[in-house]
Amino acid sequence: MLAQPVTDFLTSSAALCDAVLRLRGHALTEELGRIVRAVLNSPLGEYIPADSASMLLTPPMDAAVAANDDAVPSLSQDVCFDDHYFGRFVVSGGAHYSELDRQHLASLASLLGSVLQVHSVAQRTTHAYVQVEAKLQHQSQILDHIHESVLTMDMSGFIISWNKGAERLFGYTAVEAVGRNILFLYDEEDIGFHDAFLEQGGRLMEVRRKKKNGEVFWASLSLSPLCDINDRSIGLIAYLTDITERKMAEERIHHLAYYDALTSLPNRTLLTKLVDQALMVAQRNKAHGCVLFIDLNRFKLINDTLGRKIGDQLLVEVARRFRTVLRDQDLVARLGGDEFAVGLFDIGQHFEASMVAQKLLATLNAPILIDGHDLRVGGSIGISVYPQDGHDAETLLRLADIAMYRAKQEGGADGDHVAFYSQDMNQGMQERMRIETGLRNALGNGELLLHYQPKYAIPDGKIIGAEALVRWRHPVRGLVPPSEFIPLAEATGLVVQVGEWVLETACAQAQAWKDAGLPPIRLAVNVSAREFTATLPGRVSDTLKRYGLEPSWLELEITESTLMHNIDRVIGIMDRITALGVTLSLDDFGTGYSSLSYLKRFPIDTLKIDRSFTIGIPGDPNDCAIANTIISIAQQLKHKVIAEGVETVEQLAFLKNSGCDEVQGYLFSQPLEAEAFERALRENWRPGRSSRAA
Ligand code: C2E
Ligand code: MG
Ligand code: MG
Repeated sequence: MLAQPVTDFLTSSAALCDAVLRLRGHALTEELGRIVRAVLNSPLGEYIPADSASMLLTPPMDAAVAANDDAVPSLSQDVCFDDHYFGRFVVSGGAHYSELDRQHLASLASLLGSVLQVHSVAQRTTHAYVQVEAKLQHQSQILDHIHESVLTMDMSGFIISWNKGAERLFGYTAVEAVGRNILFLYDEEDIGFHDAFLEQGGRLMEVRRKKKNGEVFWASLSLSPLCDINDRSIGLIAYLTDITERKMAEERIHHLAYYDALTSLPNRTLLTKLVDQALMVAQRNKAHGCVLFIDLNRFKLINDTLGRKIGDQLLVEVARRFRTVLRDQDLVARLGGDEFAVGLFDIGQHFEASMVAQKLLATLNAPILIDGHDLRVGGSIGISVYPQDGHDAETLLRLADIAMYRAKQEGGADGDHVAFYSQDMNQGMQERMRIETGLRNALGNGELLLHYQPKYAIPDGKIIGAEALVRWRHPVRGLVPPSEFIPLAEATGLVVQVGEWVLETACAQAQAWKDAGLPPIRLAVNVSAREFTATLPGRVSDTLKRYGLEPSWLELEITESTLMHNIDRVIGIMDRITALGVTLSLDDFGTGYSSLSYLKRFPIDTLKIDRSFTIGIPGDPNDCAIANTIISIAQQLKHKVIAEGVETVEQLAFLKNSGCDEVQGYLFSQPLEAEAFERALRENWRPGRSSRAA
């Protein structure tokens, strides 16, 4: 067995390495057995791997020559590396094994141990690598399949990765996005936040981003740090979800809560907040502030007569005009109905507020054309001032509201007026509230009554009719004149119920007089603008029928303001009334706007010269000229003319001279209770009586 050529050992070593690299399992065991037999030139020999069942029975041992006399000589050598045991070479069948054989076997085992060790490390590494690769593949699949868009970027915001969700959300492919700076996805408004994002990774925020098609959307963005193997932060991972729909729903809810749906102006809630904020600034700057409370004068009338659709358009136009007239920093809100409020906070002196108020009134009085209607809505404005009247929005609004009512009273039913709040108004307001509740009760408690003021024909001084004038017999205050409650009843709408009562009572009275055999007269009932709706003719006709009263007994007095809107509609109502046989007279004539071109279209019977002109007769040339003009207009239009408020014989003489047909006034009679009027009528119609008018 000596002198084994070295080349054989080398060849076998090479074969051993080759086998380990190429073969596995049984084939490898076989080949190793073959090699060991060749190296030791031994007929028997094998490699027993550690996992072979037989090895479990044979404990590992160093290469040893079993020199038992009885046994066949054999060699065995464990194959190990460090502490790791791979298997064992066992050779036998030779006649004798030398020390050199043992060394060769040891070398072969050592070589095999090393090669198996290297190979198994390499195999494990390859396996681990394959696993890592599979895991990565797995993760990228997950990333691509989740709905969220996930992208990573380096510390400077350059995009490193871009999942399918990001492709779907932004419309850019990974190829288009990776390598670009994240800023290209920002909406202009959000660009300033970029640095803050990078510094504060981990926050959840709502941002605006831009898609490839330019569309800007809302996204929820969560950032978390991207770290390297040593846990050093090298960038950010961004998770984005499209929340545009939710955001829009939120905005809609916000808009509903804080804005008026019709005009899109802030509502009372938002105005209160904004005013309070502005007051804090004003307080710091020691500045003044004002709140203007605006109520449209003729809105209710327009809304009642022309309908809601036109009313709505009118409010939208008013809101638009207010915004145009005011500066950007001024606040304007719709409080509800036809009430608006304006907040001014950078005014030097509070009288500037009244200039603004005048501008607002001017814009309300400029014609508003809607559906062919030429509307002039007018307004009343109350102003409260910070700091003198109040220090918070609620108080300033409340006081401006009170001042607005004063403005309404001072301006009259249709006049535009501005009033600053003052202490005594508060009392006035309480008084107003008292009257309002009192009046509601008055209707139910039968506290209203009518007085009748006779009307006389100038040529013969005969009583040709009477005007029914309402009174309120207040349980505490006594007889309250209509001037103290009719304007309020008009403002609150109560006038409609009052009017129904008056018409009913006047017809009942006329019927009673007729039945009592009194000469036929015309009983005039005042009808306010708010009552003058499409239902009025029907109501009049029903009432007449109910009392069996001829229509010629009834006259309706309407004021000029009633005629100011929607002429065609008003004329339609008038025609239906006159068609019943009821006459119409135009009260307070000359005090409103009376377009002569319209006047001739109205089916009226009588023009009533207002008391304010009668007063100046005959001393005031203007009043005389006006009275004369009214009389000649009436004559040309073939209307009768009556002068009210005649108190002196001079007035009467002038009117008689000018051709006035009828008169009414204290010179002849104050308004009388029904019985007194009846007596006066009987007296007047008695044959042979004398009369001042005649
Ligand atoms: P009006 O329709 O112009 O009524 C004439 C007013 O002048 C009445 O006041 C009458 O008493 C008063 N008057 C008559 N002659 C003279 C005079 O010679 N000198 C003076 N200083 N005054 C005179 P009254 O009764 O206080 O009514 C005021 C206003 O209240 C009425 O003005 C009318 O607009 C309204 N009103 C009265 N009754 C009713 C009603 O039943 N319904 C409606 N809607 N309004 C009414
Ligand atoms: Mg009248
Ligand atoms: Mg009058």
